[in-house]
Amino acid sequence: MKYIDEFRDPHLARALIGQIRKDLKQPLQLMEFCGGHTHAILRFGIRTLLPETLTMSSGPGCPVCVTSASDLDHAMALVRLPGVILTTFGDMVKVPGSQGSLEKARADGADVRIVYSPRDAISLAKKTPDSPVIFLAVGFETTAPGVAASILEAAQLGIRNFFAFSLHKLTSPAVRAILDAGEVKLSGIVGPGHVTTVIGTKAWNFLPEEYHVPIAVAGFEPLDILRAISMLVLQVGEKKARVDNAYSRSVLPQGNQTALAIMNQVFEPCDAEWRGLGVIPRSGLRIREEYAHFDASRAFKVDVSSGAERPGCRCGEVLRGILLPRECPLFRRVCTPEDPVGPCMVSAEGACAAYYQYGEE
Ligand code: SF4
Repeated sequence: MKYIDEFRDPHLARALIGQIRKDLKQPLQLMEFCGGHTHAILRFGIRTLLPETLTMSSGPGCPVCVTSASDLDHAMALVRLPGVILTTFGDMVKVPGSQGSLEKARADGADVRIVYSPRDAISLAKKTPDSPVIFLAVGFETTAPGVAASILEAAQLGIRNFFAFSLHKLTSPAVRAILDAGEVKLSGIVGPGHVTTVIGTKAWNFLPEEYHVPIAVAGFEPLDILRAISMLVLQVGEKKARVDNAYSRSVLPQGNQTALAIMNQVFEPCDAEWRGLGVIPRSGLRIREEYAHFDASRAFKVDVSSGAERPGCRCGEVLRGILLPRECPLFRRVCTPEDPVGPCMVSAEGACAAYYQYGEE
């Protein structure tokens, strides 16, 4: 298939693996920030092809997974309000919180609907003018501009029954938090391709400049990822740290300025709680005062319970890159995609789901 096959060429993959082996002079620990990369690495067997002295850990780049238990409980409280229709992406409905999942709430009679974009929620709001329609907005810089555009559209059309509950998060503060914690000694980071398409490679300059940690931004095909790993191995071998771009067909240094402008028009940074990482300053996005009418957290006052984690779940450690899914005692035995204990087993970007699906023990 055009534009796919050339990024899965086995001859080129073998050449890149040979280059990585040749350039690797010392044990390296890399982190792939993005859950999409974790899935691609396992799906294409990349981990098994790499030298044993090159280890890769998963990071917190799964928006569903990093949504905190208390934010989930807040969403559960919203959906229980009389007459409310709560809309969200498919992954979110299955995530178990301390008050059960949105799927369970739906079985109990709550109106929870899966949508494919926030514009679907706008369409629903138009069709049901007497019901508040809340869009549960989860995602990084990749999805926030689309939600911002929907809020602008609702404002322009005068749709007063559309609301967004913003749990959006920003990626670079999470990377800083992981490096500042120092729990995992990283030699380099495989940077998120979709996020960097929006924020641009310049947004990662702080990594080499402040932490002397190299980053190589990657796409999601095997050659993209192998090329990024090869770039990182080379940088470490040369004792250099810079921002490399192995996804130049999508990512520009300045990112997508139009998307960033829309995002910044509607949202402003705020402190946000991440599963596993706690509260990270200015790592979330809240709706600006000017668009406060559309902010579900201001429009609906609810009592939010404790936000307790499910007993035994170690998603927090998986998201910090200090625990492999197979090292969680519940993995496969108790926690499965059919009966997940934590969000990392639910989401299409979750590390535990990737290890389960692609059979890596
Ligand atoms: Fe959480 Fe399940 Fe993963 Fe364990 S296996 S960390 S319980 S999602």
